[in-house]
Amino acid sequence: MDVEKKVVETIEKYGLIKEKDKVVVALSGGKDSASILYILKKLGYNVEGLMIDLHLGNWSKIHNENMIRFCEANEVPLTIVDLKKEVGQGICFIKAVLKKSQNLTGCTVCGVIKRWILNKWAKKLGADVLVTGHNLDDEAQNVLMNFLKGHVLLGVNSSPATGGIKIKGFVQRVKPLFFVPESEILEYAKSKKFDILYDKCPCAFGTYRVETREWMKGISDLEKKKIVENFQKLVPKLRSENVWEIKKCGKCGEPSRRELCNACKIFSCLK
Ligand code: SF4
Ligand code: ZN
Repeated sequence: MDVEKKVVETIEKYGLIKEKDKVVVALSGGKDSASILYILKKLGYNVEGLMIDLHLGNWSKIHNENMIRFCEANEVPLTIVDLKKEVGQGICFIKAVLKKSQNLTGCTVCGVIKRWILNKWAKKLGADVLVTGHNLDDEAQNVLMNFLKGHVLLGVNSSPATGGIKIKGFVQRVKPLFFVPESEILEYAKSKKFDILYDKCPCAFGTYRVETREWMKGISDLEKKKIVENFQKLVPKLRSENVWEIKKCGKCGEPSRRELCNACKIFSCLK
């Protein structure tokens, strides 16, 4: 299968996962993360699933049930972190407060909180690597979005192995689907008859990413690959010129570039 072959090639070329690694896969409930969990398990890696219950109504409930069933069927342990227990509120409330107080819209708030929880819990689970289901389309969208917003440097960490170097306190994040187009993953998941939700998140509307995704519909997978590969050629130089000191967040102790990490800044607005 082409998707499996591309995953193996990316893992080998970038040295993403070692044979003995404890591999924690961040599960959203969607086709990308379910597919990569399935493939890594099939390849014989020591895999575990990690999911966040965002409390997005029925959508989260169905995703949770699906992933419990999916992981059981594939004999993979699963941890579901309850966002309300973790930070006191569900994602809809948090997003509404941040929109009102900071005018932060779209998926920014959710993305920051998810990264914070995933890193914290991947450490608790003793992960050597944290796998995410980001695919070629996500990466091509990132390159264009960052470029159009004039924030090219935001993509400095974008590569199959995020960050490129080990940073104390961060579990190495890896993206074995980095070069696999979304269309191929969809076909793969359907061919395997994965019993999961194929809909997009109900909160993913009116965002810049959604607009970019729509706009990129006319772009072929080959062109998306060129966008991503050409940007990858710039990454080593951008990284060498932009080295940030990583400290510990004064509040939660997670790694951060500033005194207070972005997640703690968000939490402080909820009080
Ligand atoms: Fe969160 Fe946006 Fe992803 Fe929905 S689409 S889960 S709101 S980051
Ligand atoms: Zn913090």
